[in-house]
Amino acid sequence: MASEYDYDLFTIGAGSGGVRASRVSAAHGARVAVAEEYRVGGTCVIRGCVPKKMLVYGAHFAEDLEDARKFGWTLGECSFDWKTLRDNVLADVDRLNGAYTDTLENNGVDIIHERARLTGPHEVTLDSGKVVTARHILVAVGARPRVPDVPGAELGITSNECFHLDAVPERVLIVGGGYIANEFAGIFNQFGATVTIVNRGDTILRGYDESVRDRLLQISLLKGLNFRFHASPTRLERTDSGCIRVEMTGHDPVEVDCLLWATGRVPNTHDLGLEDAGVELGEQGEIKVDRFSRTSVENIYAVGDCTDRIQLTPVAIREGQAFADTVFGGNPSCVNYDCVPSAVFSHPPMAGVGMTEGEARNKLGSVKVYQSDFRPMKNVLAQRNERSLYKMICHGENDQIVGLHMIGPDAPEILQAAAVAVKAGLTKADFDATVALHPTMAEELVLLR
Ligand code: NDP
Repeated sequence: MASEYDYDLFTIGAGSGGVRASRVSAAHGARVAVAEEYRVGGTCVIRGCVPKKMLVYGAHFAEDLEDARKFGWTLGECSFDWKTLRDNVLADVDRLNGAYTDTLENNGVDIIHERARLTGPHEVTLDSGKVVTARHILVAVGARPRVPDVPGAELGITSNECFHLDAVPERVLIVGGGYIANEFAGIFNQFGATVTIVNRGDTILRGYDESVRDRLLQISLLKGLNFRFHASPTRLERTDSGCIRVEMTGHDPVEVDCLLWATGRVPNTHDLGLEDAGVELGEQGEIKVDRFSRTSVENIYAVGDCTDRIQLTPVAIREGQAFADTVFGGNPSCVNYDCVPSAVFSHPPMAGVGMTEGEARNKLGSVKVYQSDFRPMKNVLAQRNERSLYKMICHGENDQIVGLHMIGPDAPEILQAAAVAVKAGLTKADFDATVALHPTMAEELVLLR
């Protein structure tokens, strides 16, 4: 029998959540189309996590080459060419864009390279004017950088543009103290730029464990990063010499070559026809959903950053998978948001899972904290005065680990494995019962006091 709709599922947005949901729905037998106005892959693949991590790798060579001499290597003159790295990174982004496109096509998903707007609960209208109908609609449009409303704001760039710069700016001012600010501060600093972070509060990476983020601040200061706290830009102006003059509250103006807005991301839900279709939005434009990612309209769902639950790629992917399994796989599933690990790819990186010490004290009252504050062997030989910090937070009554936080080389790699144990509800005694793997940094986890 012919369906009354063109598709079973129409997905708006081919980022991490939209691609997973579309591919798996098609594998469950649904007829699926996905509309993407920019490039298949979304923020993570095209202008986020993936190219950023490659820049982090590239940046780290600055210290590795310096340290190599302490390990006996004689190096000829070394220089860094930004355009080589940039173009290699962008070429890999093209490769991944192709891989994501192939994945969709191989699963029989129709890709429509146009912007789509909702024009009814079962209807979208494409930029070309074509109207498409679907039994279910999934909104997976992600988020975009927030740019504060100050005079001259357009002189600044966002993380989107960082991947396309012609050169590494000599002086960079980064507004914000979160993930993007600290990651790009590390990258630009390693490439030789003078970096100043301007933050409205006095805390970087609010939400991370206090001692761990303090450690990042100390190390960043040692590396020459500058910080202005309790400061918000009030005006940006182009000077006669082509620089950007930034006026801010509480501090003298500064002149820089580049200003990066890293002040959070807002859901990409403007002008999508959502409200007209009856989809309820929150104050920041986030789409309100239930635990099955269903919006206030029965057949319209939303996943990923546009719902502003946890703005992380692996979370969006899980939400997309759960949606497909629920709606087309006959297996109602929702995502468990407990113990989602996260990392900041700063220099050095930090990572955490579960409650911070502060949260645990507020929620549980009685907690035990174990920690190891050590200088990694490689840093000792390199005479690099940079200490790592690992911190385990346990429930005071039963010793169950409720949080694990760390900063130091490879912290995200180590934490991913340890997060399995935290998620499984293991105790400090379980960690202690495991024999150390020597000599590693990770062995500190089973030797905590
Ligand atoms: P974050 O939420 O991490 O940090 C935003 C920063 O900007 C905070 O310091 C915040 O201050 C400040 N801020 C917010 N609004 C304003 C404003 N209007 N004026 C001045 N300052 C402001 O956002 P990012 O932009 O760094 O990253 C966006 C999201 O992307 C992250 O939350 C994360 O989910 C994701 N991401 C994840 C990465 C990873 O997993 N490694 C890497 C990059 C991004 P305050 O603390 O006072 O609120």
